[in-house]
Amino acid sequence: MREDDKSIHEFDFKLICEYFSSIERQGPGSPDATLKALSFIDNLSDESRIADLGCGTGGQTIVLARNTTGHITGIDLFADFINIFNENVSKENLQDRVKGIVCSMDNLDFQDQELDLIWSEGAIYNVGFERGINEWRRFLKPGGFIAVTEASWFTRERPDEIDRFWNDAYPEIDIISTKVGQIEKAGYMPIATFMLPEKCWTDHFYALQVSAQEKFLKKYAGNKAAEELVAYQRHEAELYRKYKDFYGYVFYIGKKI
Ligand code: SAH
Repeated sequence: MREDDKSIHEFDFKLICEYFSSIERQGPGSPDATLKALSFIDNLSDESRIADLGCGTGGQTIVLARNTTGHITGIDLFADFINIFNENVSKENLQDRVKGIVCSMDNLDFQDQELDLIWSEGAIYNVGFERGINEWRRFLKPGGFIAVTEASWFTRERPDEIDRFWNDAYPEIDIISTKVGQIEKAGYMPIATFMLPEKCWTDHFYALQVSAQEKFLKKYAGNKAAEELVAYQRHEAELYRKYKDFYGYVFYIGKKI
């Protein structure tokens, strides 16, 4: 198997997590994009309960916390990310209202109608977009919001190479109108959608990986799995440069009906 034929799912989970622990974010995004999405949400107060699902080390959670006043629970499956998350929260002195918990997003421990807002950047793909928006809806109060980013096609047709790559990595990738239809069908009003600007991928994600890759390769010199992981990330970044007109992350914001 050529390394660029290998899907991200086939790499050692621990190794992936270590690699991504060393960078500020574990997926494309930016403080500006988080704030823009937040600007569509108008039901928040000191009493609000917010969940950030697949929060990673908390890049976007800290932005959310600085710009809201309610309580935020960060959820991630990977304990090392949650440890870093809780350290970052303490550094910002936000520990009274922000807490990271190790838990899977497909087995959440919230009460029905407990939450005012469900946030999830670059992570809903772990359960799948349609399943996530449907399963998580019951945790929201009526009128509560969901705001997620999801890999989406920008055009109905695209070159084979990128079509194959994404259909292997995440077959649920689809055009924006399909995703909006799924939001409506799941019982939300589609409040807004916007494409994440290119710099969310380049400056805020791939550029940060360059020095992390060098350090990682030094630490794991001769380790084939580590070398393949870095090669995969470089390949993904190269594909983005080549095909960024055809796909990207889109923020979807819905309001529970
Ligand atoms: N929101 C962060 C991280 C995105 S990467 C950011 O935008 O930077 C995706 C995250 O989902 C990772 O932190 C990964 O550990 C987490 N994850 C993967 N499967 C999960 C699951 N089943 N439940 C909760 N989190 C999960």
